[in-house]
Amino acid sequence: MIEPSKKVCLRTFGCQMNAYDSLRMAGMLADMGYAQVEEPDAADLIVLNTCSVRRLAEEKVYSYVGELKRLKREKPWLIIGVGGCVAQQEGDKLLRRLPHLDFVFGPDAVPSLPGLVGDALRGKRQAMTKLGPSAAPSQIIIPTAPGLRAMVTVMTGCDNFCSYCVVPYVRGRERSRPAGEVLQEVNALVEAGVREITLLGQNVNSYHDPDSGLDFAGLLARVNEVKDLWRIRFTTSHPKDLGQGLIEAMAGLDKVMEQMHLPAQSGSNRMLKAMNRGYTREKYLEQVRRLREKVPAVALGSDIIVGFPGESQEDFEQSLSLLREVRYDFLYSFKYSDRPFTRAGRLEDKLDEDTKGSRLVELQALQRVIGLQEHQAQVGRVEEVLVEGPAKHGQGLMSGRSRAGRVVNFPGPPELTGSLVMVRITQGRENSLAGELIPATGENTA
Ligand code: SF4
Repeated sequence: MIEPSKKVCLRTFGCQMNAYDSLRMAGMLADMGYAQVEEPDAADLIVLNTCSVRRLAEEKVYSYVGELKRLKREKPWLIIGVGGCVAQQEGDKLLRRLPHLDFVFGPDAVPSLPGLVGDALRGKRQAMTKLGPSAAPSQIIIPTAPGLRAMVTVMTGCDNFCSYCVVPYVRGRERSRPAGEVLQEVNALVEAGVREITLLGQNVNSYHDPDSGLDFAGLLARVNEVKDLWRIRFTTSHPKDLGQGLIEAMAGLDKVMEQMHLPAQSGSNRMLKAMNRGYTREKYLEQVRRLREKVPAVALGSDIIVGFPGESQEDFEQSLSLLREVRYDFLYSFKYSDRPFTRAGRLEDKLDEDTKGSRLVELQALQRVIGLQEHQAQVGRVEEVLVEGPAKHGQGLMSGRSRAGRVVNFPGPPELTGSLVMVRITQGRENSLAGELIPATGENTA
């Protein structure tokens, strides 16, 4: 029997798609009367939303679920469910391997969560991991108290089959949501107080409205018209599919922010080919040039994998030189790890952990220098900042994001939360900018 006041501990691993799904889960569970708690010890229901993109993330999930065994022994009424990509990948193997688990559900089964919890309360253990046939999930679930910023999925899955990536196997093939439904969700979020929307997809450039054929640039234009929405971001763009239409849309639509995540993965043509990325270093740099020509203030982000099978020192140095050439504002970098089902997992020329580790350290050190220099180059500029609330560190400081997505901290009153203000940048730090408020210029307030 569960306690009368039900509590759920919802843990999220991995990418923004998972963060988005977790918000939807939290909304559904709140409707069932579950209040969220931070600590698993205080919960009647524990839901893990998992990631299998990298081996380390997957191992963390197994060790975390293993630790919950003790809790289940102490509180036999505790329900434990595992969702996300590890759930999709492992299916009912997880139930067999971990007898203290109650249910397992893949990303497409998120809307079935209330039913799965209900069944678990009646003692039924099950795995729900069927990938949807052709349509993207169509349920609109607005999180309780969504805040100023929110995410909206425009498409799920991926058709690209990069040789290292598990996503097409655990998230399925590309499926776009109808534009009408995306707009309905954006409007509902704006009505709930959201002012900045991030449109999500593994490869937003191949968005294609199943009803009207609208492409992603067209979708951006429609979202740009939503009243009382101030800012639009999107992720992720595949470099091979970044078309002129999207670049023009970024340059011409006032609410679309000057920020783009354009994952290169490697600076070496040999590696890009082995990764099945569909572009060369030259083509990638050409895309960056075209983008910067139209959107000069754009802040660029990237992902880089070090130690892909067969990566020579020379290949790695090509990645370092790509960083120097592009000068990213932010970078996610990872050591290659074998993933189930993938072609790269079956390659032979694997690198040892020490080599991968030292390359990662070198790459990240270089990016720290570049990132700091890029931030220092912002000093003296006046930036429009959407104020999110008091800064985590520093008394009397408020924090928000610039149009390019950089964190900006500045002295100011808490009443500014939810408004757009202008801030003069006075200092560039490694992960943020510091500035001073330019008074009485913000007209929009939430
Ligand atoms: S584009 Fe490549 S890396 Fe990105 S999700 Fe698709 S298969 Fe994975």
